[in-house]
Amino acid sequence: MSKRDLRDLSLGELKKWVVANDLKPYAVTQIIQWLYEKRATSLAEMTNLSKKARELLQATFTLESLSVATLAPATDGTVKIGFRLADGAIIESVLMPQKDRITLCLSSQVGCAMGCTFCKTATMKLVRNLTQFEILGQVLAALKFLESEDPRAQRIKSLASSETLGNIVYMGMGEPLHNFGPVVESIRILLDQQAFDFSQRKVTVSTCGLAPQIVQFGREVPARLAVSLNAANDQSRTAIMPINQRYDLEKLMAACRDYAQGKRYPVTFEYVLMKDLNDSRKDAAELVRCIANTPCKVNLIPFNEYEGSPYHRPDEERILAFHKYLADRGFQVNIRYSKGLDAMAACGQLAISLTEEELRCSESLAS
Ligand code: SAH
Repeated sequence: MSKRDLRDLSLGELKKWVVANDLKPYAVTQIIQWLYEKRATSLAEMTNLSKKARELLQATFTLESLSVATLAPATDGTVKIGFRLADGAIIESVLMPQKDRITLCLSSQVGCAMGCTFCKTATMKLVRNLTQFEILGQVLAALKFLESEDPRAQRIKSLASSETLGNIVYMGMGEPLHNFGPVVESIRILLDQQAFDFSQRKVTVSTCGLAPQIVQFGREVPARLAVSLNAANDQSRTAIMPINQRYDLEKLMAACRDYAQGKRYPVTFEYVLMKDLNDSRKDAAELVRCIANTPCKVNLIPFNEYEGSPYHRPDEERILAFHKYLADRGFQVNIRYSKGLDAMAACGQLAISLTEEELRCSESLAS
């Protein structure tokens, strides 16, 4: 049997392993620091561990790194990183320079099972869940890339006036709450002070609306939640997001209110604006009614078109009018023009369409 990557162990499993093997309890902290703070690339590096601990680790686990298959820069500085996983599956992460920070948008599944009609990832269907290591591997690879001499990394850092990752969003390929265990355990590690030490406000999970998992998520980890709403009545929402049949707006909003209880930050509702589908004044009024009782802020995302996409982006005037309608009623609302459009790295555009030729070309780039 092939060995497991040590970064596939949750913090709880690591503690159990240390106890079961009669190692000193502080070995847990030492291992966590080696893996995520010092970002060790081999078990042999962990020199302050006892010889026994190191030998046991080497006999039981490996330390791999995700292999970067492609690096695609967009004109706005965004870089889409394609990874080839051990079984050949490909996933994508996106690094985005923002005003004062760098954001990493990471994937939680290969493909997605949710079937939203406007999203390109949905066309892949679900291939499989990512492991904890494959999720954290995206963060480790992004940090390594940012530290490299690569001109694309230098450009992101100068555009964002920041040297390192400031924000992590689970908004790449997949439905994070459909891969609940590895996603939650990876967040515990991102937030752990001895590991990556991200602040709770800087880690956001986005969901299409798995209501029971939203409630459970709110109880298990103190990270932020974004909900892709996209339509504010059941009939329209079911037509574009099949998940709404299982968890309708009433159930979804109840789950969001449960999540928001006792939190210092509100839920973010994402609303992709699609021409003549959900962008009218009537739609805006419905949205206001739908979210009125939930502490929230709203991000409006003008639809990103892709080849074969069935929908279109509304005219600027319509986008601004929709924004104004919400702002005038006291909502905290932003228009989020997606980054990375020309590298097909924007919201809803992630899906694997690389040819073998593209892969070969970019391998030489990435190595
Ligand atoms: N499955 C999760 C995580 C993906 S986040 C979720 O649904 O939230 C991806 C975000 O991009 C979602 O808010 C989705 O509604 C939005 N999106 C999907 N396709 C899009 C497109 N073509 N243009 C703009 N936004 C899109």
